[in-house]
Amino acid sequence: MSDMPGRTDVTGRTDVPGAVGAAAHAARLRVDWPACRARGLCAELLPEVVSVDEWGYPVVERPVPRRLLALAAEAVDACPHRALRLLDPPRPH
Ligand code: SF4
Repeated sequence: MSDMPGRTDVTGRTDVPGAVGAAAHAARLRVDWPACRARGLCAELLPEVVSVDEWGYPVVERPVPRRLLALAAEAVDACPHRALRLLDPPRPH
């Protein structure tokens, strides 16, 4: 891949700084704040994109890279309060 420095998380996935072009991002996550109960499950499932604030509410840090789309979809499905949505996912070919 690239020799650019990246952050590797505990799962071994590496986030490459600078990979922010349209081709690198496939979708965005949106939180329905009235529905969210701040348990932070989404941040546990997708730490490259979501962190939690001091009250446990999710903070969507960046668009979802194409390589993490499947995990983002899992996080959406796993949200116990249906408070997470994927916006602008790629269309099937
Ligand atoms: S998993 Fe759902 S309810 Fe839990 S913090 Fe994330 S958006 Fe909120």
